[in-house]
Amino acid sequence: MSILRQIPSECKIRTELKRILFGKQLFCPFCQGKAIKKYGKRYRCKRCRKPFSFTSVTWLRGMKLSLQTFWLLVWCWCNKVPVDQAHKVAGVSLVTVRRWYEKFRTHLPEHALDATRLSGVVQIDEAYRGSKNKKYAIVGAKQIGTRKVVLKHIPEKSVDRKTAIDFLSNYVVPGSTLFSDGAAIYRKISNWWPVNHSYERHNRWEFTLTSEIEGLWGNYTTFVRRMYHHVTPEKAPDLITEFTFRFSYPEWFQSPVSYLRVAIMPLKQKQVHLWKTFPQFISSMQDANLLLKLAKKSLTTVPY
Ligand SMILES: [Zn+2]
Repeated sequence: MSILRQIPSECKIRTELKRILFGKQLFCPFCQGKAIKKYGKRYRCKRCRKPFSFTSVTWLRGMKLSLQTFWLLVWCWCNKVPVDQAHKVAGVSLVTVRRWYEKFRTHLPEHALDATRLSGVVQIDEAYRGSKNKKYAIVGAKQIGTRKVVLKHIPEKSVDRKTAIDFLSNYVVPGSTLFSDGAAIYRKISNWWPVNHSYERHNRWEFTLTSEIEGLWGNYTTFVRRMYHHVTPEKAPDLITEFTFRFSYPEWFQSPVSYLRVAIMPLKQKQVHLWKTFPQFISSMQDANLLLKLAKKSLTTVPY
């Protein structure tokens, strides 16, 4: 099979993990020591004696899949292969595919979303989803002519003005032009957040100002249906985030390597701080004092 032939060898995958985690030179993840001994696929620090492997120091810890199967699952997820298809191609259970897809999703760098700012011309809209008892809303905005989007799960039946203002103040740069539909929550929104706001009335078949954001809801629905078949209200926030990242950062999903480079944090080579070693020094001095006292006591009690 063509996909299977493209999976790198176990050894190449290990080399890639090493490059992501350690950069050029291997060091001990616990004490930063540079003297490392290799035992097959595992390593041991010569200074602190602690063992580690390239997976044990990441969220792949305890993984039961082979590295090649893992790689194939990352490839499937990056390429939006539906859960049932990934299960067949990788030869693992549906539960395993779901669990790993979820892990891949939760290790997307969430801080990227916090740093997202839309500017220029921005379209905003809200959508309502969920079942009768568990309704939720999604507020979405798109910087037109770009792939920059923010979709935010709102655990409420409807979106109020406060939610809209929170959203704008978080993600839309002051001075931007904002297009919305005629919903009441956006009326005079510029009194709360400085945007140049225009709106249109959908019941009059005006769809030019918000066409891109309207299209985005369609993209989201198709994405969920094809890849996951359906979404439960509990999983909705995570899937909305995944979609946002796929849309805004397609480069992260180009290959398993590009995904792993954003999802696995390089290990930092920490400096040894004196304030961390000082308490140890003090306690060792206390131990020494105690020994000294005991020694003196025993000396004085020795009969002549
Ligand atoms: Zn060490």
